[in-house]
Amino acid sequence: MNNFRDSDAAQEKFVRYYRKYRNSPMKVLLGFYTGQYHKFLISCFFYLVKHSPALFSPLLIANVINGVLAGGEEAKRTILLNAGIWLALLAIHLPANYMYAMYRSRVTRGTEAGLRSALVRKLQELSIPYHTRMQSGRLQSKIIRDVEAIETLSSQLFNNVLNIVMNLIITIGLTAVKNRVILVFFLLVAPVASLTVIAFRRRIGKVNRDFRLEMEETSARVMEMVEMVPVTRAHALEQVENERMARQLMETAEKGYRLDILQSNFGAAGWVVFQVFQALCLIFSGFMALSGRILVGDITFYQTSFTTVVNQFTALINLLPLITKGLESVTSVGEVLSSDDVEQNEGKETIKDLKGEFEFRNVGYSYPGTSDPVLRDINLKVRRGEIVAVVGESGSGKTTMMNLLVGFMAPEHGELLIDGKDMKTVDLKSYRRYLSVVPQMPLLFTGTLRDNIAYGLENASTEQILAAVRAANLESLIEKLPQGLDSMLEEHGANLSGGQRQRIAIARALIRDPKVIILDEATSALDVVSEKEIQNALAHLVKDRTTFVVAHRLSTIKNADRIVVLDRGRIAEEGSYEELMEREGLFYHMESLQMNISRDEAGAS
Ligand code: ADP
Repeated sequence: MNNFRDSDAAQEKFVRYYRKYRNSPMKVLLGFYTGQYHKFLISCFFYLVKHSPALFSPLLIANVINGVLAGGEEAKRTILLNAGIWLALLAIHLPANYMYAMYRSRVTRGTEAGLRSALVRKLQELSIPYHTRMQSGRLQSKIIRDVEAIETLSSQLFNNVLNIVMNLIITIGLTAVKNRVILVFFLLVAPVASLTVIAFRRRIGKVNRDFRLEMEETSARVMEMVEMVPVTRAHALEQVENERMARQLMETAEKGYRLDILQSNFGAAGWVVFQVFQALCLIFSGFMALSGRILVGDITFYQTSFTTVVNQFTALINLLPLITKGLESVTSVGEVLSSDDVEQNEGKETIKDLKGEFEFRNVGYSYPGTSDPVLRDINLKVRRGEIVAVVGESGSGKTTMMNLLVGFMAPEHGELLIDGKDMKTVDLKSYRRYLSVVPQMPLLFTGTLRDNIAYGLENASTEQILAAVRAANLESLIEKLPQGLDSMLEEHGANLSGGQRQRIAIARALIRDPKVIILDEATSALDVVSEKEIQNALAHLVKDRTTFVVAHRLSTIKNADRIVVLDRGRIAEEGSYEELMEREGLFYHMESLQMNISRDEAGAS
């Protein structure tokens, strides 16, 4: 149907032109459509055909008036002939219109879909820090709003602009044949129109950009607000949130208002200038007819033709805001599509069989834009099948360490080795096939329990799923649900408890039979039964697998082969539970504190 079915091709092409003409979005857009121009031309041809009654009617009317004024037998023939031509042109309007709409829509809608899927693909490639920075709302706004603006621009550009040009050629052509003097008058419109455009263009561009950025910000804030609703509600902060949103929305409205006024002034200025010209044209042709230099009927012809000419320029001028908006969106989409902040896996070593040995060598990391390293001088060697519990105060760098292990970011200093290979030289996708991550807040999607457990493994058999369910201690949950495995989960698993959700995530990890597990234990307190169930599930999960666990529970910490204590980004202590307790260092103090708290809690209840 179109050239952009393949989103890969769409992305490659867009990026190629974007990199080449970064500062000229129009060229990017035109380049993007190369190879499709003929379709626009065909569509334009049909537009012309469908539009021909309007184009030729001034001439036909003038002929009839002049014929009637001349009188005689000839007049009747002239009336019938001209009306006949008009009717014939009208007869082909519907089929021509169909062809016009079909060609135009095929190209632009196809491109719209191609561009959207290119963006979606790109989002899957962009690094996790990029996503964190950009916020999902902002990216969503690009996929929906910007692509729509580009689509609108394309259809306007290729059709309207070409149509305007064709209308001008035909009208001016007909005038040229009839009277050269009037033609000169017509041609005066062009420089005046250009001056009006020049006066407004830059300002409209700037205001449009401000508005686009503000819209993205709003989109990001709305997404955030929606995600925060439970927290907001729980703290009775609705009013605060509403006010904050209202301020943002007012800010957007203000920018939108500025844009509207500017665009409206621009349109009105153009309109007045042209109307003045039209009045002048009437005076001009009126006097020409009085002095006998043109026929009376030709006054209507010139007047209508001039209206057509003026309308074309008005249409062109009215397109300007749309063009500016569309070009702004080309830049916006180009920024994302051409971003280099992606994981480079091509050409790197693929991992065919992971043993699961890790080594941190003097690893240091700081987040972009911050000066203080979050991790420093991390040295740690982990054997295959070992269970390493990472503990430390909040903010000590545990999550960052896990994110390095998943490969979301690369160490800034030092090296992280997997099976003795520097992670930077490894195809991370191939590595992650052997990896399962169980996050603190497992993300479940709307679908059945089965789909959620088998996420990404389309050919997982029911036996495999049931085995994972058993190992994750989920049997009792499944028995309770009306349709068992095929019960639908509500959005984000809203109808499940935290413990159940985590066990689903454990089942999801188990079924992939990974070699390495990265587990972020939930901090929330669980009742004794849930705690036991989770520990049972975890025992199955970590068996014979290299496991890194951000540990909060005593039972997990005790079961670990080794405990790594992080303190402000450094490894402060390392060893087994007994070793660390004997040492009476940081860990000992942390644990004693925890135990005291638990004891107090137990006493209180
Ligand atoms: P922990 O998991 O131990 O609580 P983290 O690894 O999440 O610690 O965070 C360590 C430090 O890094 C904190 O001071 C935190 O503020 C900072 N940090 C975490 N993520 C980012 C980020 N995306 N950008 C900048 N700083 C971050």
